[in-house]
Amino acid sequence: MAFTSNHSDLKQINRLAIINHIKKKPSISRSDLAKVTGLNKSTIGKIVQELLDEHWVKEDSPTPLEGAGRRPTGLTLNGDVLTLLGAELGVDYIAVVACSIAGEIRFQSRLPYQHVNVETSVSQLADILCHTWKLMLSLNHQILGLGVSVPGLVNASDGHVVDLPNIGWQNIDLIDMLHQRFAQQHMPEIDITIINDANAGALSEFVFGRSQYHRNPIIHLTVGIGVGAGIVSENGLYTGLNGWAGEIGHSTLQPFDGWLCACGQRGCVETLVSQRALSRELVGDAPILSIETMQNRLAQGDAQVKKGLETVGYFLGIVMRNLANILNPETIVLGGPMSQFEAALLEPAIASFNAHTQRHVMTPTIRLCEFGQNASTLGAAAAALMKHIEPKHTPTHISLQGLRRK
Ligand SMILES: [Zn+2]
Repeated sequence: MAFTSNHSDLKQINRLAIINHIKKKPSISRSDLAKVTGLNKSTIGKIVQELLDEHWVKEDSPTPLEGAGRRPTGLTLNGDVLTLLGAELGVDYIAVVACSIAGEIRFQSRLPYQHVNVETSVSQLADILCHTWKLMLSLNHQILGLGVSVPGLVNASDGHVVDLPNIGWQNIDLIDMLHQRFAQQHMPEIDITIINDANAGALSEFVFGRSQYHRNPIIHLTVGIGVGAGIVSENGLYTGLNGWAGEIGHSTLQPFDGWLCACGQRGCVETLVSQRALSRELVGDAPILSIETMQNRLAQGDAQVKKGLETVGYFLGIVMRNLANILNPETIVLGGPMSQFEAALLEPAIASFNAHTQRHVMTPTIRLCEFGQNASTLGAAAAALMKHIEPKHTPTHISLQGLRRK
């Protein structure tokens, strides 16, 4: 991609480079920022002052050195003022968080929810968001933007919701619907980003997690009623041509006599690896049991739930193996509602992963997601943040390094 720039682009890129470096290495000094970005000290000084004034960063308390002198003042992201809103429109719940630009949760709310129609669901989501938004404003936080994750296909170019098979919605302009409801409630303008839930889960790890800006590929599997994979590597989220990469839930795992999937096909991954698949092991075609109900049964030593998790884990391990063979990741992370079963699901998955190869050279680390059931909401907030810290049309390596003024 050709990259052209003018003075304000350069300044923006250098700002972003500095924010990213402070994010990657809290307590970094101005002189270390100059070294890693290649920018001169006076440029660093001016931009840091702007970032201090706008509450993006704050100075650490000075720590005296032994003997004479003081350590250079460290700079850290300021989590006290700028705030992000993140929401997840789940298949059977709605969740909202308000978090700092460092991913610290300030407020969260989670509501079990059965969707009846689009209008009512979006109004419910907007009400919870407005409540959270007003609360943060009353505490003098500044809202940077809103990210909303949804369980299905999102057009990456315009944020249009294309298909949510497990809710039964197609072609929804969720951004416009939310703007209308916010206007009705007299809320200020806000930038809205819509993102697939699995991609959001992956972003939560990449932007806020311990694998922050990790250069090696990570796959984040979101397993709930649906299944999706978010893929991140050196250049951030891999979305594919339309934003639909990682739709592993609708790849075929049982080609003959498979269960009917919400997408209309038979034998999809989702029919064997999901909350629905586990519930079917316990109650057949009756309404899907909640994760909490199944967790309670497991806690009481219910052998049927344990066996069901082993069956689901067996197929999950095959899915992980297939993904590892295609993408050769360093890490596979299990997230989404089913990750709340933790080792009871992860252990049979790892056993199955190992059993489905004779070549044990490609063995990624397989672990639980850091943020549990908050991964998609935090990841949606991270997507809103990325608009501020990753400029459009600018390769990540440039925005991380900054540009030297000639
Ligand atoms: Zn399907």
